Amino acid sequence: MSRLTELYEEIARCQRCELAKSRTNTVPGEGPEDAEIMFIGEAPGFYEDQQGRPFVGAAGRFLEELLSKIGLKREDVYICNVLKCRPPGNRDPLASELEACRPFLERQIEIIKPKLIVTLGRFALTHFFPEAKITRVHGQPRKVGGVIYYPMYHPAAALHQPRWRSAVEEDFLRIPELLAKVEEMEEAQPPEQAEQLSLF
Ligand code: URA
Repeated sequence: MSRLTELYEEIARCQRCELAKSRTNTVPGEGPEDAEIMFIGEAPGFYEDQQGRPFVGAAGRFLEELLSKIGLKREDVYICNVLKCRPPGNRDPLASELEACRPFLERQIEIIKPKLIVTLGRFALTHFFPEAKITRVHGQPRKVGGVIYYPMYHPAAALHQPRWRSAVEEDFLRIPELLAKVEEMEEAQPPEQAEQLSLF
């Protein structure tokens, strides 16, 4: 069994928070174990909970449309969420749920070792950069520990907000260029300096 499959089985048995009681299925994530790009959303919604797969509803169709614009299919990338279970009524994740689920995402990253991590929406962004504001940093890549973190608005939000939609489309188109530049891009400054440089 692969390390990823083992992790999925562990997630399927998880009882670390109350969401275990209301879920239909866990939604661990999907994609190749050696994917170069990892997309991280917020949490499963209704359809994801039904099917046990991430981004299969409207936001997922939009994500696939965006991927096709840069010549990729969803099978080429790894897709997951910060939470592996659906919050009832799609409410925002609670701090306790984010905390309980955190180790799963950490382990996914450790196994897959992506070169580029695209955070979709504020919950994925603040998993890595607790102080960052998405309105300020979306579209700004930041390399830390050899990995490029690239924050974007969530595709579900972008679907309803024309302004965010064009921001997501523009940010998305830069993915191939960023991927090609992972090695040569400089590591981010420590936070205080980064602040001064308005990087993040
Ligand atoms: N929105 C998310 O953040 N994740 C999904 O899997 C689906 C919609």
